[in-house]
Amino acid sequence: MAVSKCTRLNGPLIKQMLDSVDSVLFDCDGVIWRGDQAIPGAPDVINLLKKNGKKVFFVTNNSTKTRKMYADKLALMGFNAAEDEVFGTAYCSAMYLKHVSRLQGKVYLIGSNAMRQELEKVGIQQTGVGPDPISGVQIDWANVPLDPEVKAVVVGFDEHFSYMKLNRALQYLNNPDCLLVGTNTDTRLPLEGGKAVPGTGCILKAVETAAQRQAQTVGKPNHFMYDCVASQFGLDRTRCLMVGDRLDTDILLGSNCGLKTLLTLTGVSTVADAEAHQESGCPKRLGMVPDYYVESIAELLPALQG
Ligand code: PLP
Ligand code: CA
Repeated sequence: MAVSKCTRLNGPLIKQMLDSVDSVLFDCDGVIWRGDQAIPGAPDVINLLKKNGKKVFFVTNNSTKTRKMYADKLALMGFNAAEDEVFGTAYCSAMYLKHVSRLQGKVYLIGSNAMRQELEKVGIQQTGVGPDPISGVQIDWANVPLDPEVKAVVVGFDEHFSYMKLNRALQYLNNPDCLLVGTNTDTRLPLEGGKAVPGTGCILKAVETAAQRQAQTVGKPNHFMYDCVASQFGLDRTRCLMVGDRLDTDILLGSNCGLKTLLTLTGVSTVADAEAHQESGCPKRLGMVPDYYVESIAELLPALQG
């Protein structure tokens, strides 16, 4: 339906676009909430979409929460959301290791307790979560004790990341049969007031650099996140919309999977960023040009209330 890309979505076009889809995938941070604050109007948009018979899913690269934790957060903010509609990278990494890698063995986890819980839920044991027990002690770095059952190194957001963890990851990955899986590659987590903190991509890059290996990543823009949703809910990609605030993760995921794409300006990327990709004419960058954009998803409200 998008005649030209990067179209401002307004007026009758909103209803027309919504009528052309059955399912909507929402990125979370910068789209439906910012940190701990819901984007004004977002809960009504999601609840009305569902009332209008649309399937709604929450797709986030943030690996610090389980599906249950996200469902609780969504409920607190007034979103009508079920646990099985949430696809975070903690859960999707567990799915990937279980169903794609068919991992037989343990994980060395650079990540959160939430990741540990999602791994354990599918029967995968881990070692490594929390501060490294021998951090700071002077030892023979190249001969740290390793768990012989570890068959994969998995990297997500880890507030306890340290030189010792990086070293341990390298020692495991010296075995070419040991897998390297990362949750996502977001390098910066933007905060209010133009501030930012390092994202998981920085930790993953450190591990990749040390191990001289490239990780398989699970999160957006890898199509695996969409595959997870599609395989569980039988989506028709031609009638599916991806809504996001980042061109290089959300919009590219949508393009990679053949979905309609909508950029919202309540987060990271701007229309100028999208136009720069479009004007570059570079095929690789064209996947980062959304079909449509809105200032906020609250702009969908009038079409849903009518
Ligand atoms: N990773 C972490 C650790 C985060 O805190 C966030 C945002 O809060 C993200 C990734 C990006 O999340 P999303 O994909 O919902 O924008
Ligand atoms: Ca986002």
